[in-house]
Amino acid sequence: MPELPEVETVRIFLKKNVIQKKILSIKIEDSNLRFQISNEIPIKLRNSMITKILRRGKYLIFLYSNDYALLFHLGMTGYFRLTDSYKKKKHDHIVFIFSEEKLIFNDIRKFGFVKIYKKQRIFTSKHIKNLGPEPLSKAFDFEYFHKNLNRKTNIKNLLMNQNFVSGLGNIYCSEILFDSQVKPTRSVKSLKDKELKRIIGSAKKILKNSIKLGGTTIKNFIVSYEEIGYFKNNLMVYGREGCNCMRCKKSILVKKINQSGRSTFFCTECQL
Ligand SMILES: [Zn+2]
Repeated sequence: MPELPEVETVRIFLKKNVIQKKILSIKIEDSNLRFQISNEIPIKLRNSMITKILRRGKYLIFLYSNDYALLFHLGMTGYFRLTDSYKKKKHDHIVFIFSEEKLIFNDIRKFGFVKIYKKQRIFTSKHIKNLGPEPLSKAFDFEYFHKNLNRKTNIKNLLMNQNFVSGLGNIYCSEILFDSQVKPTRSVKSLKDKELKRIIGSAKKILKNSIKLGGTTIKNFIVSYEEIGYFKNNLMVYGREGCNCMRCKKSILVKKINQSGRSTFFCTECQL
């Protein structure tokens, strides 16, 4: 599932390639997503241009040259491709037609969605309004963390909570806790100040590095979760069950457990 760095990479790619290009028409190929694609989209956005693309957590916000905005969520398998020779693929949902190219949103598993809003309404939509601060922003600091943490939960679930901090998912939560050497099952109330500070530092460092890598991974006008590959080669602990811990090296193996229905990977030796 695309998390903050993957969504940010998509945003950077689209910003470079589709801003200020006139949309001649929009075709809905398959309206069946998490929410039905509205027939209003082709009518309201025809002859407009995208003027800005923003990201909030795992959401993309497209602002248009008229009164409207689109909210995109990539779900589990949503991706964009930009092409000058469009051939319909299975699971293509919506196609934005520019004078020379077409931008297509494809989503195999249909957990993604696109919704249209009046510009001034999009930031108060139910999807956006309760999101916690961006982890890379100054607002996500020790003071915030200390004040707002829910002491009844464990640290993995706290980081996964989009209302506490937005954009983190299963993969980066495992990576952040590995980097900060904190065991994912630790209750939040047991965490010392220095551990909270380490978690914040690791979150910022890992997200920044992943975004940097993402920019170099995009090829051939395709921005798919497969192409981005979740920066898989750079994951230290996620998906490495039974492999040697990258920090302890030889004898200690990475363990996989289930937390709230999601897999967590960690080292039993160096994450305390
Ligand atoms: Zn270890």
